[in-house]
Amino acid sequence: KFITFEGIDGAGKSTHIAFVSELLRARDIDVVMTREPGGTTLGEKLREILLHERMHLETEALLMFAARREHIAQIIEPALAAGKWVISDRFTDASFAYQGGGRKLPIEKLEALEAWVHPHLQPDLTLLFDVPLEVARARLDAAREPDKFEQEKAEFFAATRAAYLGRARQFPERFRIIDSTKSIPDIQNQLKELLVSI
Ligand code: C5P
Repeated sequence: KFITFEGIDGAGKSTHIAFVSELLRARDIDVVMTREPGGTTLGEKLREILLHERMHLETEALLMFAARREHIAQIIEPALAAGKWVISDRFTDASFAYQGGGRKLPIEKLEALEAWVHPHLQPDLTLLFDVPLEVARARLDAAREPDKFEQEKAEFFAATRAAYLGRARQFPERFRIIDSTKSIPDIQNQLKELLVSI
């Protein structure tokens, strides 16, 4: 199975990834945890560039998908073929949300890249951690040095969040929205319930 974690910066998804992988490991499932952009040696180099350098919007989208191509070939497909479960901190929905929603790259371009890079691969389950912008912003301010994306304005995150929610409406069979304003134990209980049925 292929499970992806999504949400705007500060939505709290990272907190819950470790919990989910422990939950699955307790069921004797062989879990591979990975992330985007990144996941491979080349992908992590691209991540550094993507997070810190200004570039044309299309360059950004192309590099995201270049990193993704490598990630799929080196990590995701081999793991799935070996019967392992892959948990990825972000995948293509993030491109639709950030480059599509946040930066307003036409959706057709993203769909074309998706059709090129992974015409057949889709997550079995996508957990969307959703919070109002003010909550996300407060968490980020408390946390760490912002990368280039985290310095964007509220409008950017509002559009990114809206695009994520739009994706969830478009693909209701694989998306589950988690209300990330809830407490960590509440969310953990919800995750336990969600994962028994997969
Ligand atoms: O989730 P994580 O914090 O590792 O993501 C790194 C940064 O890359 C985030 O600030 C996120 O907003 C950004 N990103 C993006 N487009 C993607 C994936 C991530 O702008 N497709």
